[in-house]
Order: sequence, then structure tokens, then C-alpha cells
Amino acid sequence: MNIILLGPPGAGKGTQARYLVENRGMVQLSTGDMLREARTSGTEMGKIVADVMDRGQLVTDEIVIGLIREKLETVKGAGFIFDGFPRTLGQADALATLLAEEGQELGAAIAMEVDDEALVERITARSTCGTCGEVYNDKTKPIPADGKCTNCGGTEFKRRADDNEESLKTRLMEYYKKTSPLIGYYYAKGLLATVDGLADMAAVRAAIAKVMDEA
Ligand code: ADP
Ligand code: ZN
Repeated sequence: MNIILLGPPGAGKGTQARYLVENRGMVQLSTGDMLREARTSGTEMGKIVADVMDRGQLVTDEIVIGLIREKLETVKGAGFIFDGFPRTLGQADALATLLAEEGQELGAAIAMEVDDEALVERITARSTCGTCGEVYNDKTKPIPADGKCTNCGGTEFKRRADDNEESLKTRLMEYYKKTSPLIGYYYAKGLLATVDGLADMAAVRAAIAKVMDEA
């Protein structure tokens, strides 16, 4: 089954997607990750993307749709998790077309609800393991005292260039203006489910599992 994880930055989309990859063999398609990879490529496109991302704005539909198209045509697995895509109505329409072309369907769009204050707290305290991507939080899940990732033993941790209060403000504005209309869009299609993104990790996992089992 293919699902979309919808929600503002910091809602926990990536964390839940990683869990589904490990436990259900699904394939995570994160346009954020793809774009972060593109920006390290040193190409002209990479430079433009880096600048837009660091300011917290959205990259053009054309670029992200191109990235998703390429994956849908080449990657096979037990269902896709769209994480951070679609983020605009144009992207949502494009996804519907691409899936239809591949003979695929969307099982559910799962909106993860979190209030803004929690988002700011989560994001400004966030770091990830440079090796495996495990997510840490200075307050709630600090990097272990021995400096080793609990998941893979890696010793390098990074903070995202756009995880600062200034670009977070822009990311939230972009979310409300351009992405939140997708909640109505998927509701109208009968595909919307909502989960409480502030519940503890296990409860969020269970809520998502329930949606998927009932879809
Ligand atoms: P978050 O959800 O925490 O903001 P992501 O990793 O999903 O993080 O996205 C980081 C940045 O990458 C966004 O702020 C935006 O600049 C860009 N980006 C990611 N996905 C898209 C998309 N579908 N459309 C446009 N821009 C995107
Ligand atoms: Zn790790």
C-alpha cells in the first residue's frame, strides 16, 4: 500500500517513515532527503536548491515532481511512503497522475497533527546521526554520553542548516499557505486520516498501523 505522511516540519514524518521501512519493508520517498542529496552534487541546480532550502522556502514543483517521477519509475518495494511530498496542490495532482501511470493507488494520506510550539521545540533541538539518520533531541533524546549512536554506533552527528528559528518561521508559513490545503484535498478524495503527532512514539506508530490496516 502507498501512503502519504502529511504534516508540518517537525511533525515526525521522517521518524515514522523510517519505522515503516524497517518493519514493513516499505520504501521511503522523502523529497527533503533527495534534495539534500542534490545540493551536495555541486551542480547549478544543487546550488539553487541549497539556497531555497536554507531560507525555508519550497523548491519548485517541477524539480520535486521530477525527482519523484524518477523514483516511481525505477524503485520497487512493498509500498511507498511519501514523506514531505506532495507539499502543494500541483504536486498532489502530479502524484495522482504518476501513480495512475504506474498502475498504483494511494491507500491513505495520514495527517500528523502537532501544535506550533511543539514544532519549534522539536526542530531547534534536533540532530541526526550522520551514518544512519537516527534522530536525536537535546532535551528528550540526547546523544548518548559516550558519543555513539544507539542505533549504529556512528560518532558523527549533524544539524540541518534550515533547523534554526528564522527559516523555521518561513517553513511554517509555507506549510500553512501551500501544504495545509492538501488536508481538504485528500479529505474530499476520501483518503484522509489524522493521527495525534504529539502522542508518544509507540502510540503514533499504532495509530498509523491502524489506519493502514483499515485502508
Ligand atoms: P521538514 O518537513 O522538516 O521541513 P524536509 O526534509 O521534508 O523537512 O524538507 C526540507 C526542505 O526541502 C523544505 O523546507 C523545502 O525547501 C524542500 N522540500 C522538501 N520537499 C519539498 C517539496 N515536496 N516541495 C518543495 N520543496 C520541498
Ligand atoms: Zn546511527
